This record gives sequence, C-alpha cells and structure tokens, in this order.
Amino acid sequence: MNRRQGLSELFARQWDVVVIGGGITGAGILLEAARRGLSALLVEQRDFAWGTSSRSSKLVHGGLRYLKEGQFALTRESVHEREHLLRQAAGLVEPQSFAFGDYVGRKPGKRAFLFGLAIYDRMAGQKARHYFDREEFAALAPNVAADGLQGGMVYSDAKTDDARLVLRVLQEARRHRGVAVNYMAVESLLREGDEAAPGAAASDGQVRGVRLRDGLDGAQHEVRARLVISATGAWADRLRARGAAQASRLRPLRGSHLVLPAWRLPLAQAISLMHPADGRPVFAFPWEGVTLVGTTDVDHKGDLSREAAITRAEFDYLMAALRDQFPQLDLTEQDAIATYAGVRPVIDSGKADPSKEGRDHALWLEDGLLTVTGGKLTTFRVIALDALKLASSLLPELKDRLASQPLFGVDVPPALRFHRALPAGQALRLQGRYGDQARQLIDAAQPGELALIPGTQTIWAQLRWAARCESVCKLEDLMLRRSRLGIQLRGGGAGILPRIRAICQPELGWSDQRWKAEEAAYLALWKTHYSLPTS
Ligand SMILES: Cc1cc2nc3c(=O)[nH]c(=O)nc-3n(C[C@H](O)[C@H](O)[C@H](O)COP(=O)(O)OP(=O)(O)OC[C@H]3O[C@@H](n4cnc5c(N)ncnc54)[C@H](O)[C@@H]3O)c2cc1C
Repeated sequence: MNRRQGLSELFARQWDVVVIGGGITGAGILLEAARRGLSALLVEQRDFAWGTSSRSSKLVHGGLRYLKEGQFALTRESVHEREHLLRQAAGLVEPQSFAFGDYVGRKPGKRAFLFGLAIYDRMAGQKARHYFDREEFAALAPNVAADGLQGGMVYSDAKTDDARLVLRVLQEARRHRGVAVNYMAVESLLREGDEAAPGAAASDGQVRGVRLRDGLDGAQHEVRARLVISATGAWADRLRARGAAQASRLRPLRGSHLVLPAWRLPLAQAISLMHPADGRPVFAFPWEGVTLVGTTDVDHKGDLSREAAITRAEFDYLMAALRDQFPQLDLTEQDAIATYAGVRPVIDSGKADPSKEGRDHALWLEDGLLTVTGGKLTTFRVIALDALKLASSLLPELKDRLASQPLFGVDVPPALRFHRALPAGQALRLQGRYGDQARQLIDAAQPGELALIPGTQTIWAQLRWAARCESVCKLEDLMLRRSRLGIQLRGGGAGILPRIRAICQPELGWSDQRWKAEEAAYLALWKTHYSLPTS
C-alpha cells in the first residue's frame, strides 16, 4: 500500500483526539492519551522533532536560574521530573555533574549559590552539592580561568538527546495504538457548520477536525476528531489566529548553540558560568562525543516557516564566554564544527529583557481547540497530563483515568547487556533509545555495523535501523534527528556520506538520482543553518 492510500484509510475514521505537532509536547500527549484508551492521531508538518524539540540545550534540569527569579513551582516540578526521567529513561536521560567557579567579586557568590543549591537538592531529596577549594576545583575543571578563582561549586543535573527522546515517546505511544504521521501539515481547522468541500469559507463553530496537506505529495485530507489539540510550540498563535481573531500570546525567543570537538574543549564535567558581558548563565558540557555550548536568548523576528539559525552576534557572544572562561585553550571560531538554533515558545508578558519572561507552560481551550504551549522538554509529562485534565471536560471518559503513570521503565535484557560485539555502555544507551526494539536493531546489523562511528557514540547499525523502521522521508531526517551526526561531525558528516549511502540507500529504496538530490539538499541546508555564520 502506498503512503497516499494508507493515509486515506487512516484519515477516513473519526478519532477521539488529533494532536497537531510532533515535538516533545505532542508526543507526550499522544502517549498519555493512547495509553488511556483513546484513539489518538498525531500529525507533524515536517519531521518528528523538527521544531524546538531537536534544538534545545538537551538538559533535563530543574533550572537553577528559575529559582533566582522566584519560579519555585516550576523548579520543583522540573526537579521531580528530572528524577523520574533518570529512573525511567536510563540510557537516554543521564546524570550530568556541573561545576561553577567561585571568582573574586563575581556574582552569584558562594553563599547565594550554595543557598540556591540547598533548595535544589532539597526538592530532589538528595545532597549532590559540594564546595571545593581552589586547588580541588582546578583539578575538577582543569581548563577554567585561574585569575581570581577561589574555589567552586559542583552540583548535579541531567542531559539527554532531545530528538531521540521524542522518538522514544512516539515509539511508546505506538505500542498503545497511537498513530503518528510526519510531513503532514494542518492547513486549517474544520469547524461545526463548515461545508465539507475543501476551500469553503470557515465558520466560527466548534472545532471538529483538521484539514491536512501532505508535505511530500501535496495530497489534501480531512480528519474528524472529538477533540483537536494544538501542540505546535512557537507556531501555536498561527493556528489559533486562523479560526478566530484571538490576540497572539507568544513571544518567540531564539537560543543558539555552538558545537566543538571534545578534544578541543575537553570537559570532565559541565561548566556553568555567567557571561562576562551581561551576567546571563551560559554552559558548556560533554554530549555524545562533542562539547555543546549555549545559549543565547533573543527575540526571534525570522520567518517561522524556515528553521532558525545562529547570527554572527550570537556566535561572537558565545565565543566571548568561552574565551573568558577557558583562556589558556586559545579557542578560535574555526574550532566550532557546527551550530544550531531553536525558538522557545515563551508566553509574552511584555518584559523588556527576554530572559526575564517566565518559562511555564500554558493551556487555552478556545472553541473546542485545546492549545498547549510553552514549558520545557523536562516537564513534558506534566504538560501532557495537564492537557488531558483540561481535555476531560470534552472527553468525560478521561476523568477517572488521569493518574500519572511511569514513563517507560528500563530493564536491559541480559542478552543485550552481555552482547560481546557491543562497545562499552551501548547496551543501556540503545535500550534507553529504542526500548524493546533495541534487540531487533542489533540483530539487523550487518558485519562491522556495531562499531562506533568515529568521533561519536552512535553505532552504524542505528542508521540502518532508522532507514528501515523510523519514517525517514529525507536525508536531513536521518542526519539531524534519527542520528545527530549533522551536528557532531565537521561539515555535517559529509565525509562519511558514502558509507551511510551504502547502508541506507537500499533500506530506503531510493534511486541513485534521489540519493544525489537528497545529499545536495541536506548539505545546502547544513551550510545555511548549521555551520558558522558568514557575516
Ligand atoms: C535554545 C533552547 C534551549 C532549550 N533548552 C532546554 C533544556 O535544556 N531543557 C528543557 O527542558 N527545555 C529546553 N528548552 C525548551 C524546550 O526545548 C521546549 O519547551 C520544547 O522542545 C517545546 O516542545 P514542543 O513540542 O512544544 O514544540 P516543538 O518541538 O517546536 O514542536 C512543535 C511542532 O509543531 C509542528 N507544527 C507547527 N505547526 C503545525 C501545523 N500547522 N501542522 C502540523 N504540525 C505543525 C512544528 O513543525 C513542530 O515540530 C529549550 C528551548 C530552546 C529554544
């Protein structure tokens, strides 16, 4: 059955819930709805995690800086979720220790920082904080500036692969009969009283479904649902504005990152610091074989239909922080091998300083359209449950099914744990990313494909599996979201494309001509959106 035929059959039925948006919020809602027995369909206009959910800082964290701004409830909720994810998604969500240097005259000082950490630890029911004197701290964080250093704090948070987290949540949703389709955009909402014919003038009745356009072949579809949930992040105002003349509520804020090879900025643990120019928090941490540096927080005026990219000013701002914190490494801009930028869906309260805007999530039920936006990657489960709580006014059968459930549960089967050909640490890593499909992924590997792709923690077999089973429609899906090679390797991984082609082209069933076109499109995208800014 081809895509069009298969989808037409899917879309012919009435669904309990249609979720718009395949980021972490949409994926979380799909999972929580499907595991509670609702028939649930998710549609994503581009690729799964194409939006902000593959461009975050990849931290699963309480957010120490929210404490400073008095957002205690958000911090507590985030700390609890961090602990839950560390237990439930081990191998995909991992602990990360952070170090913060205590410099003469620099804020926040030792006392204030340790006070914040004490609250942070208390929320998690642990004591992970520690103050080290100058010599000890310099040994823990070897390359940090020595001038004025009098010691430093170490505390604990967590990190993940954001796009893989979305994919794992979608995989889990599918186990509960949830359905997720990528490259399927909602063009408008179907409302009570609308004519069935596409293109008819929209009425202002209750939302009863969506009109879709297939991003691959242009086909149009209509789907009816008892409830439509928009989990469209920074795009949420667009869909709201189409139906009724609601005021916009979001302030899109861009955050950009640099990626450096681990050998050029080697870190035993994450370093958190205050930017010398404006005192904003900035961090650098080891991630999947590279070092990530972030982030900025600026109003995003760009067209949201194109992906965001770092600007020269943001690039220089992050480099300035690195040079200040790691002066003896003599880092130059050529040390950065990639960049990426994402847009935060932040609720607009009109604050002059973007960084002072709250980071909580918001829900609005307007004419039968439930919009869920804002918040954090870390708190996606809480957001999904809040959405279902509100949805239960329209779907009453949900009312007695709202209790929170454990996310995945990770139990690495012995056959995987003791697999002789797997590099160290891969069993848990693959189990966290692929759950009960990890075994099949390994079994599908051809000789040599259980080895690591040099410079990364990805094994070749993950590429074969993605091409075979993970709805890859474009080469960029494979390079930027199923794997993260596009931001982990110099030149977006151009040097290993021949081997990737040998593994993946037959799995994808692409002709030589299609492969060449995909390669050209991917490399052009990488150059404009993931490399160093030109001006
Ligand atoms: C720079 C930066 C750093 C961050 N760091 C962290 C961090 O370290 N930790 C943390 O917890 N959080 C972090 N966040 C926040 C977190 O990334 C976001 O809150 C989260 O990813 C938002 O997920 P979402 O699903 O709501 O939005 P998105 O991931 O943007 O998903 C929305 C999806 O909706 C789709 N869509 C839009 N319109 C339509 C339509 N008409 N039809 C179909 N699909 C549509 C889009 O294509 C998109 O994929 C960060 C955010 C940014 C920008």
